[in-house]
Amino acid sequence: KPPDPAIDEIAERLSHVKHTILILSGKGGVGKSTFTAHLAHGLASDDTKQVGVLDVDICGPSIPRVMGLEGEEVHQSGSGWSPVYVEDNLGVMSVGFLLGSPDDAVIWRGPKKNGLIKQFLRDVDWGEIDYLLIDTPPGTSDEHLSIAQYLSKANIDGAVIITTPQEVALLDVRKEISFCRKVNMPILGVVENMSGFVCKNCKKESLLFPPTTGGAEKMAADSGVDFLGKLPLDPRLGQCCDEGKSFLTEVPDSPATHAFKNIIGNI
Ligand code: ADP
Repeated sequence: KPPDPAIDEIAERLSHVKHTILILSGKGGVGKSTFTAHLAHGLASDDTKQVGVLDVDICGPSIPRVMGLEGEEVHQSGSGWSPVYVEDNLGVMSVGFLLGSPDDAVIWRGPKKNGLIKQFLRDVDWGEIDYLLIDTPPGTSDEHLSIAQYLSKANIDGAVIITTPQEVALLDVRKEISFCRKVNMPILGVVENMSGFVCKNCKKESLLFPPTTGGAEKMAADSGVDFLGKLPLDPRLGQCCDEGKSFLTEVPDSPATHAFKNIIGNI
């Protein structure tokens, strides 16, 4: 079978992006989209930088909601699909903009999903931008193999892996790490989300999951990948996501905000 010409077309499209970062997680629900959205907000707070978010989490595209873009649609321009802009320097494209109902894609078969992922990587007109964050489906599915294949000639900085400290989540991160190694995807590091919870009354931090194995930090060290930081659980962060607002500007001074900024600085 001859190689898919889309691989070169995608490499050409992404050659206009200075830094492309994939956001991965072993499991769903660990905060991958929350992290992607806030990494984007954090990077775009420097208004000299142009930032794009590409959401190819076909079975659960939550970026439109988290970024306050529910109900937006895809528009075509002369040179591809135009992103929807949250700010002048922050554009977003999500499979969620294409689906009539968020439940639509769940029943799609592999080839249709892969075709859509290809179009999203190839056809969005980002222009010249500094950062492109790609929010991927959870796990190491068939779709990840296609993503890795489509990006095989593009210049990718690497992947950030999001997990919770729970052992079941860490197990899947180990799979994610070996997947990245198999497909030669550099790993920028691991972020531990929902590390702990600070009670606003007594100000003490409680752990949410029993620290049986040393959490993501130890797992990262054991696997030889960088640990980028811990992010606490903060109900206001969940609320900002539900309302499509940036926690970093809504709650500028909190342990979670500082943790986010540190992690963004480490990437
Ligand atoms: P994923 O993309 O991994 O499926 P989401 O980013 O959608 O996960 O997060 C799952 C849920 O947890 C969302 O409702 C989100 O608002 C919430 N959430 C994620 N991280 C935090 C956090 N650190 N504090 C509070 N709520 C969080």
